[in-house]
Amino acid sequence: MIQTNYLIIGSGVAGLTFALKMAEEFPDKKVTIVTKANADESNTKYAQGGIAIVTDKMVDSYQKHIEDTLICGDGLCDEEVVKMVITEGPKRLKELIEWGAKFDENSKGTLDLGKEGGHSENRVVHHKDQTGQEIQRAISHQVHQKDNILVLDYHLAIDLITEHNRCLGAYVLDEKTNEILTFQSDFTLLATGGIGHLYGHTTNPVIATGDGIAMAYRAKASIKEMEFIQFHPTALYDASTGTSFLISEAVRGFGAYLRTKNGHRFMPDYDSRGDLASRDIVSQCIDLELKKSGDDCVYLDCSHLDMEAFIKHFPMIYKHCQKLGIDLAKDWIPVVPAQHYLCGGIVVDKTGKTSVENLFACGECSRTGLHGGNRLASNSLLEALVYSDKIYTYLAKTTFDKSQFEGKVTDWKLVPKPVINPDYVAKRKAELQLLMRQNAGIVRNDVDLLQAKDKLTLWKTEIEEKINQYQINADLCELQNLITIGTLIVQQSIDRKENCGGFVKVNS
Ligand code: FAD
Repeated sequence: MIQTNYLIIGSGVAGLTFALKMAEEFPDKKVTIVTKANADESNTKYAQGGIAIVTDKMVDSYQKHIEDTLICGDGLCDEEVVKMVITEGPKRLKELIEWGAKFDENSKGTLDLGKEGGHSENRVVHHKDQTGQEIQRAISHQVHQKDNILVLDYHLAIDLITEHNRCLGAYVLDEKTNEILTFQSDFTLLATGGIGHLYGHTTNPVIATGDGIAMAYRAKASIKEMEFIQFHPTALYDASTGTSFLISEAVRGFGAYLRTKNGHRFMPDYDSRGDLASRDIVSQCIDLELKKSGDDCVYLDCSHLDMEAFIKHFPMIYKHCQKLGIDLAKDWIPVVPAQHYLCGGIVVDKTGKTSVENLFACGECSRTGLHGGNRLASNSLLEALVYSDKIYTYLAKTTFDKSQFEGKVTDWKLVPKPVINPDYVAKRKAELQLLMRQNAGIVRNDVDLLQAKDKLTLWKTEIEEKINQYQINADLCELQNLITIGTLIVQQSIDRKENCGGFVKVNS
């Protein structure tokens, strides 16, 4: 059994920031991060656009950012949370800069601020089109300076250990040795990110399988608003791959137009904000256009833009397109909507506490009330930074009574079992992804959802049997978690009776 004071599951912006703060506050306490892949693999690393923060108070204001967030959330945001997160933005930005993160500046030497869909002002602080990578680099560097933080990569958390609604730690699979380790922790943080690989076509990396939410669900934590899934309108269309390269919303902010195959600029037909309407609207409009035309994709036209300035702002996007033979000065980029972000998740209060004692959640796996029915672009990195600080502030004042543990945590009993045929997992996962795309995608209906629910119920029983029968491995755990997440999305979509935010259900 391994004892630690703070067990953090996940090494994206949420997990790293929290670890760093706790390690700084308590140099004599043990902070352990377990992360299931390379320590730097996360949704965070792929964030392009930036962080929405009010920095230019001559033009912008907290009130405007609050209003934009509330409009996007379509009446479901928690206003107090929105105010709290937005007004804390500048402090969190200052901290990031102190940790060494670099952000682009304009010719006046002030922060260069981008604009994205749904924002009424330019307020997106960025590092070229690689903001997430830069943030992750800076925080990871700080984390590695701390002697009291242990980072265990290729360690996949299987399940939380709970007793009487209290979290006592987690069972973790060492993916290199296949050993199952027992971690006993005073406090546990779930910072496991998103769910993209439930849909297959996604902007998320392969780590995004909803593990934290599924583990929290099994531990009986409250999970809400799973029906609010954000589909990014402009993922590069590539029929052969699942993970889709993201063409940041900031590209439309920079002046690019969406067009049909015939060149028609369709967004102004639907919304007065045209190409800069919020991302749920743009995704739904593309979905409609594709259903009307039967085409596989629409196009993003950058050919009228100043290419020199474009390359300066979006070097990664430019290079990626160039590699695929797309010359942005004359060719249009083929794009489709792809799963991008989950607005709901593990319910937390304003200090990041879940409904299970001593268990916290932060970042994309949590549901704070900031996003409501739809997340405003570039509000998620901000949310993770603010909430990791809130959890830190709360725990810095909280003592832990060790007697809570006594005799309660037992090691995982490893019984020799056969290894499962990987073809079963691959096949079921592909079927699950197809089911979710077809029956629980951008526009849903109850008939399809009920059909999906029946299939998911069968698959849930089947995966539980396989887990009992075969040796535990990462693929089996992830498949079980994906089935759980699919079930939650489908059930909560059935339960929601009115369209709102990014949620659209059409029953004919
Ligand atoms: P992540 O960064 O996803 O980290 C999750 C971590 O948990 C990973 O280390 C993973 O390996 C680990 N993990 C998962 N399951 C387990 C397990 N069972 N055991 C152990 N470890 C586990 N947001 C913005 O605000 N602005 C943007 O411009 C922006 N652009 C984006 C572009 C792309 C392409 C993508 C995919 C997302 C973008 N987002 C953006 C969203 C934002 O990046 C994420 O919401 C945010 O980074 C999530 O951070 P996180 O720490 O919660 O999770």
